[in-house]
Amino acid sequence: MLPVITPSIKSSLQQHVNRALEEGIREIPKPDTHLTVAATAPLQMIRAEIGDCTRCRLHKGRTHLVFGVGNPNAALMFVGEGPGADEDLQGEPFVGRAGQLLTRMIEAMGLTRSDVYIANCVKCRPPGNRNPEPDEIATCIPFLKKQIEAINPRVIVCLGKFAAQTLLQTEIPITKLRGDFFDYGCTKIMPTYHPAFLLRNPNMKRAVWEDLKKVMSYLGLTPTSPTPSA
Ligand code: SF4
Repeated sequence: MLPVITPSIKSSLQQHVNRALEEGIREIPKPDTHLTVAATAPLQMIRAEIGDCTRCRLHKGRTHLVFGVGNPNAALMFVGEGPGADEDLQGEPFVGRAGQLLTRMIEAMGLTRSDVYIANCVKCRPPGNRNPEPDEIATCIPFLKKQIEAINPRVIVCLGKFAAQTLLQTEIPITKLRGDFFDYGCTKIMPTYHPAFLLRNPNMKRAVWEDLKKVMSYLGLTPTSPTPSA
């Protein structure tokens, strides 16, 4: 049976094409890349649905909407709180100092950033790096949930209390949540501390590494170093 292209799908695709043209993309990547059109299409549809979003007040201060980045078929996903200043400027999650630490943690797991998928609970930077408000999270979280549904990872590592409490729908503090697996449909959630917290509290890196080792064991990964470098 031929697929049905509804007006909303057609509109979403048109928005995506327009955005790609605005970003200077003039050709479709060759099909021999590991990011096939079939794999990226659901995420592109979600990005098109978000559009130039003004659904919550966070849109007012953003430079870029930070959608997410990585492998659309990732077995492992990292979810943080929201973009910071560097992420807002570059349009990519976890690229500042905390992001560089996350990158080292991923590499210590024997992976690269392009092997995993990285996203946040809110896609626009809260002003002055304040915490996102509950209504802002409630407005934005459906998009993250759609991304999770599209990627269908085996494990989500929740970085910090906002990601963990939001996806697990609990108010239990991160100190009690971290280090244990929780069910999220067919996916496992592993809450741990946020890399920005680790920059302020480097003595807690070992605890996070213990959490990540549980994830590696679950996924059958072999670490490349005893602990992530500072
Ligand atoms: S944070 Fe989310 S809901 Fe709010 S404006 Fe940005 S994309 Fe839209």
